[in-house]
Amino acid sequence: MGLFEKQEERRSLKESLLFFFFPPKCAACGTIGYEPLCEECGRALRESFDPQRFLCHGGNGFADEMMRLFPYDQPLVRRMLLDWKNNDYADLEKIFTFFASQAKSKGDFFKSVDTVTFLPRRKETRHKVGHDQAELFARAFCRACEYPFEELLLRTGRSVSQHSLKGEDREKNVRGIFQAARRLRGENVLLVDDIVTTGAGARECARVLKEAGAMKVFVLCIAHS
Ligand SMILES: [Zn+2]
Repeated sequence: MGLFEKQEERRSLKESLLFFFFPPKCAACGTIGYEPLCEECGRALRESFDPQRFLCHGGNGFADEMMRLFPYDQPLVRRMLLDWKNNDYADLEKIFTFFASQAKSKGDFFKSVDTVTFLPRRKETRHKVGHDQAELFARAFCRACEYPFEELLLRTGRSVSQHSLKGEDREKNVRGIFQAARRLRGENVLLVDDIVTTGAGARECARVLKEAGAMKVFVLCIAHS
């Protein structure tokens, strides 16, 4: 019994120290005392949650279907994704995984997913930020929804940041820069990304995965503009 009491004391001291140095704060607006979200941000996020499916008719190589969780013009979602890039918020992983598991019931394709992978960032970005948010999201989603996670795509070519480019230049920038990590045997792959804008990266990844033998490629992203 004494042992338990001691542990209890130690834990509460540790907890109060943690609270002092790392106070819980809202992952969206930073208000102290809330975890993972303050009431206002929680409400705003629930209201803007708008899972939508897109059938992709982009021609050869593009994914078969895409599911996005939020529209990208929602300022709160945009800020959270930007923060995620700059900080290592485990809470964001939790929050977006929660919404993704809710959206799962709305997309029939989730039933036929054999394996889950992610669209890997540029090495420079990964190095600068210290993590790859698409990978964190994909791994958390797999843990929550019991899908096998696999690093199926390797970034072997060089590219510049897509932000500075438009339309056709984005396509050219990503052309041939990914390689499949292994041969696929008719599996259906779910490709996870955080933000899909023109879809040039996702399209190229889908092409590579299909060339490697994937039957279908579905995309799950947090925000799509
Ligand atoms: Zn907040």
